[in-house]
Amino acid sequence: MNSDSYIKIENLSISYEEDDGGRTSVLKNISLNIKKGEYLAVLGHNGSGKSTLAKLLNMILEPDSGKIYIDGKEITDPSMTEEDVFELRKKVGMVFQNPDNQLVATIVEDDVAFGPENLGIEPHEIRKRVDDALSAVGMSEYAKGEPARLSGGQKQRIAIAGILAMKPDCMIFDESTAMLDPLGRRDIMDTIEMLNREHGITIIMITHYMDEAARANRIVVLDDGEILMDGAPTQIFEQHEKLKECGLDVPQCVGLVNLLKERGIIIKGECHTPSACADAIVAALNKG
Ligand code: ADP
Repeated sequence: MNSDSYIKIENLSISYEEDDGGRTSVLKNISLNIKKGEYLAVLGHNGSGKSTLAKLLNMILEPDSGKIYIDGKEITDPSMTEEDVFELRKKVGMVFQNPDNQLVATIVEDDVAFGPENLGIEPHEIRKRVDDALSAVGMSEYAKGEPARLSGGQKQRIAIAGILAMKPDCMIFDESTAMLDPLGRRDIMDTIEMLNREHGITIIMITHYMDEAARANRIVVLDDGEILMDGAPTQIFEQHEKLKECGLDVPQCVGLVNLLKERGIIIKGECHTPSACADAIVAALNKG
């Protein structure tokens, strides 16, 4: 096994049973290596198999065939004990789409403490972890508040703090901004970036938003249960025709730069996020 890989997926396939007893193939012989510290976006249109992949990584589903290794341990091994599963869930935390389904307590800090309490951590250490996690997601002032009174974005940040308090190596975000308003979405995207950059947490972000995928270091495009593309955002967005074929488009700022290029304005550098795009356009205009 490649010692660089934190997560290694080998020839993974899964199908769902249909009402008529037949089976629909959802992931088709997927192989993928994810390194420790990577910020990976899994991008694809609805029904391409993204959530199914996330659930396999979190042991919510079992594959028909193929293997998944996390930190050198095969999680698809049928002889995995409950303790093994417990250990792995500590390492890989998952944040889902609906923040309301993830909060369990009526006070914010109790909610964040829930995960570490279940891990049997000492009370004084739990206190520290809860304070640190709330501070990391910018929610310290809400520690004594009620989750029910928070906005969707704030609830999602509390859900993230609850996982952070378990000190995971890796976090999977399964369409975690899909139910949020633009401000809430931006907050969560900034939080994800901070978790990767400042805490070294490996990020797997499942999304169908191009602008979110553009913020990752690497994008894997899933199409109809297969990996269609795998590369840095710039490499992926260069292939607009291929993206269109699987129902995706380039981010708006990349589209704008392409239009300017067609009209003879030379724009250099990476333009896949709005701020990088603005810088590149200003540089081009100053030169012109
Ligand atoms: P995505 O997250 O990319 O939208 P999913 O992994 O949710 O894709 O779904 C992939 C395909 O699997 C879809 O065609 C979906 O209808 C099907 N599917 C997902 N979950 C189930 C299930 N529990 N039973 C049957 N089919 C399912």
